[in-house]
Amino acid sequence: MIPPGGTIGILGGGQLGRTIALAAAPLGYRCHVFCPVRASPAKLVTPRSTTAKYDNKLALDKFAKLVDVITFEFENVPVDTAEFLAERKPVRPGPQALRISQDRVKEKDFLRSIGVATAPYRAVAGEAELRRALQEIGPRAILKTVRMGYDGKGQMAIRPELDLAVAWRNFTAETGILEGFVEFACEISVIVARGLGGGLATYIPVENKHDHYILDTTLAPARVKPEVAMRAEAMARHIAEKLDLVGLLAVEMFVTHENEVLVNELAPRPHNSGHWTLDACYTSQFEQLVRAICGLPLGSPERHSDAVMKNLIGAEVEKWREQLADPLAKLHLYGKTEASPGRKMGHVTKLIPRR
Ligand code: AMP
Repeated sequence: MIPPGGTIGILGGGQLGRTIALAAAPLGYRCHVFCPVRASPAKLVTPRSTTAKYDNKLALDKFAKLVDVITFEFENVPVDTAEFLAERKPVRPGPQALRISQDRVKEKDFLRSIGVATAPYRAVAGEAELRRALQEIGPRAILKTVRMGYDGKGQMAIRPELDLAVAWRNFTAETGILEGFVEFACEISVIVARGLGGGLATYIPVENKHDHYILDTTLAPARVKPEVAMRAEAMARHIAEKLDLVGLLAVEMFVTHENEVLVNELAPRPHNSGHWTLDACYTSQFEQLVRAICGLPLGSPERHSDAVMKNLIGAEVEKWREQLADPLAKLHLYGKTEASPGRKMGHVTKLIPRR
């Protein structure tokens, strides 16, 4: 247990790291951000930071000496970095959660091994394997990079009319994962926190709308049957337990027209689809992460309001003034100076109080 007054080390300096730090402060913790980018959003709100690459052992060693517990805000932190740090200070969630979540094949193998349904998939390393996998999975599929894919980067829709030789040539990675295309009714996600003693706190499933593969809007709660919501929550808890995770786990899922729930992706960290919890829940996902990794009791994940969270992407951020015209809108800007297309600049949550 790390009592208030301790220092939390955060790997990654984006908006998620920034909001972890902002949630840690009222509980009496300090944060130290480690990130290769100098003027990153998290560094603007933390007194201490390190600017170094993730493989800089000297800088990592020094960082470990200055903090009491370490967490991360993105799952593509190199596993070697997490392991190096874990020999020095507790890293929560541990390196195993990273190893699984940063490799789409390992992730799906793991999910299948614990009885969790996913879209059909095959690992592919070449055009011939791609052809074979398509025969097994069916003609409509998505080819994704195994590693380092996010917000739709490194993804290619495969349709029957496509020339597979050209498709494979255009695919930049050496190995891929071919997934059967899921005709989903909606996309949902569930965030679960797991404490040091194994206690769990689960947020209700929310519904996610994407625009060009980037999350655009989250509706809380998701418009699914109560039975589907309960099943999705139970799946998220099951995965967190099987990972023996301490911290937060976000589980992205597809709900089919037959009300089947298939897991798409895992993220062992705060998630964009959980930003609504900042304003609509008794305990936000960020506070919950701080409580979990410091060994404090978890807070209530219940909501006092329903909510609609809209990401402000690229130039959308310029409309911040209009967003504030609604007195029940809560605006969050990340302190980024350049609004390039596709860049998440902030978000706004509209609250709908529950009677
Ligand atoms: P991902 O990077 O895996 O989260 O994918 C980004 C988005 O692409 C998802 O949120 C879905 O909208 C879509 N997508 C990914 N995989 C599939 C699939 N197997 N079937 C249908 N849509 C998918």
